[in-house]
Amino acid sequence: MSLFGGRKTVNVDADILVIGGGMAGTGATYESRYWGRDLKIVCVEKANIERSGAVAQGLYAINCYMGMQWGENQPEDHVRYARNDLMGLVREDLGYDIARHVDSSVHKFEEWGLPMMRDSKTGRYQREGKWQIMIHGESYKPIVAEAARKAASEVYNRIMVTHLLTDSSKPDRVAGAVGFNVRTGEFYVFRAKAVIICAGGASHIFKPRSVGEGMGRTWYAPWSSGSAYALPIRVGAKMMQMENRIVLARFKDGYGPVGAYFLHLKTYTQNGYGEEYESKWKEHTRALVGNYIDHHPTPTCLRNHAFLQEVAAGRGPIRMVTTEAFQDPHKETVGWENFLGMTIGQAVVWASQNIDPKYINPELTTSEPYVMGSHATCSGAWASGPEDIAPSDYNWGYNRMMTVDGLFGAGDTIGGSAHKFSSGSFAEGRIAAKAAVKYVMEKGRDQPQVSEQEVRDLERTIFQPLENYRVGRNEIVGGTVSPSYLLPIHGLQRLEKLMDEYVGGIGTNYMTNDRLLSRGLELLTMLREDMSHIGAEDLHQLQRAWELQHRLLASESVAHHTLFRQETRWPGYYYRGDHMKLDDENWHCFTLSRYDRETGKWAMEKAPVHHIID
Ligand SMILES: Cc1cc2nc3c(=O)[nH]c(=O)nc-3n(C[C@H](O)[C@H](O)[C@H](O)COP(=O)(O)OP(=O)(O)OC[C@H]3O[C@@H](n4cnc5c(N)ncnc54)[C@H](O)[C@@H]3O)c2cc1C
Repeated sequence: MSLFGGRKTVNVDADILVIGGGMAGTGATYESRYWGRDLKIVCVEKANIERSGAVAQGLYAINCYMGMQWGENQPEDHVRYARNDLMGLVREDLGYDIARHVDSSVHKFEEWGLPMMRDSKTGRYQREGKWQIMIHGESYKPIVAEAARKAASEVYNRIMVTHLLTDSSKPDRVAGAVGFNVRTGEFYVFRAKAVIICAGGASHIFKPRSVGEGMGRTWYAPWSSGSAYALPIRVGAKMMQMENRIVLARFKDGYGPVGAYFLHLKTYTQNGYGEEYESKWKEHTRALVGNYIDHHPTPTCLRNHAFLQEVAAGRGPIRMVTTEAFQDPHKETVGWENFLGMTIGQAVVWASQNIDPKYINPELTTSEPYVMGSHATCSGAWASGPEDIAPSDYNWGYNRMMTVDGLFGAGDTIGGSAHKFSSGSFAEGRIAAKAAVKYVMEKGRDQPQVSEQEVRDLERTIFQPLENYRVGRNEIVGGTVSPSYLLPIHGLQRLEKLMDEYVGGIGTNYMTNDRLLSRGLELLTMLREDMSHIGAEDLHQLQRAWELQHRLLASESVAHHTLFRQETRWPGYYYRGDHMKLDDENWHCFTLSRYDRETGKWAMEKAPVHHIID
């Protein structure tokens, strides 16, 4: 039996196909059913929606809640907040759209059974900070998954989507997607009238601080493999702000989040000599970014910048002062529970390193960079905005539709709308779904056609790494290094190393320049050439091979964007050594890219930033 001949193909037809069943994907699936009562709604997920995605391990806070019912914040306030944090550059129409809808999503979570913490005096949700409310988050993901399961016509778990399909007569119209079952190896062909991509962000494109056996421990979910970017990039969708990677200050070695510590326990940081250091770097930072340093709250990247400068000046490590707060037994309990319920690895690291935060101030570190669209960063696809508020050049039809017809996105996938977090991603999934249903209904009988030839070619491409391994394995008697194939782990390490060294990772203290980036792009091209020689031992490795392909395409996009923006807009996230200052005169704009899969070339352009909120 030949390799390809015996493989089962499963054909699935859908009106709406949701790729990725994390926060945005469950929101999109739920809302698709609300507006599309008679439509066939299919959700496809590479893990299992019950526990998949970045929130799967449980959270202690919902980080985006306005509290409009109590007059706590208005959507305009959130736009101002995100704009300030991103040094002026956000899509205000998209951010406003999420902010005005997010509260109702949070109310749904509570209705569906999510345990919310309440302030015993006011009866309102317990605030952790201005935007965050506290929850018991362990059940968060199963609860939204249940809503999606009940709404979907079908949910396909364990299917890794590898490619989008386009209309055979109109290449800029989406027609579905293909992938494979990571357990059975069946080939899946989804034909769909509209596709909503909700496949999360990208970790492991830069070398992580945790290496060797610890390399799976990154801050952003290690399974976030950049599919949200690679899938649309390959079919020509424009990306925005892909240079705006995020670096986070986190507890050392476990990447435990610091938000609850700063906001709820009121802890603070100091250098290795017990001194306050942030204020010392104010004038230095002002020389780079002007009065952005005076903005309140201090933008996340600029706080990182002070941290990095202090360590580079030889006064590390930076520590979180927990010894004062932890004298209060209530705060001590909250501090431990925060990690036991959310980042248990941090509690284990502390226990294993003899760190009791009641007596020892734990070290912080800055993470390797990640690419995502939902945190204090806004990389992702360039999407059409809401028709009632989007300026004309941000609106080309349906809300959250990319520059490819019928292709929508939400959550980490969509660029320009930072600080949406879990709740905002779910709300954005709902927004995208409503528009996608409208799109499907208005298209009526005008349906995309799938080319059988394209499907068969993709099948061959997708499973080729198994064949490469099967044949090449005979050339070696032991070990993992073969003259004819590259294993996914080898490719991943090569990618991470070159992104680290050339595109501004931890190895260069986040520094890069035009020469480094140009060389990095040459090396990325060579890696791309070698990708046809990837060998996969089994289906698990086949998934790793395709995750690597997606990470590589996302990385190329990051490198091109970083080269294009000739300024250092976000010191603390990365530095362009040849353009160390923020340059509002020339670069108060978005950067957009478009990849041409026929030529392998990237086209870059600027797009204006419209400020629609005062
Ligand atoms: C450590 C950490 C802490 C956080 N803390 C908070 C917090 O306290 N509060 C808060 O509100 N938010 C928090 N967030 C942010 C929140 O998790 C994200 O904003 C949110 O999950 C983004 O939603 P998404 O749907 O875009 O991505 P995800 O929820 O990650 O979902 C993406 C889904 O796509 C699937 N997928 C990926 N590729 C493919 C493919 N090729 N084929 C099929 N399926 C695929 C994945 O398996 C996953 O299920 C945190 C995130 C992290 C990593």
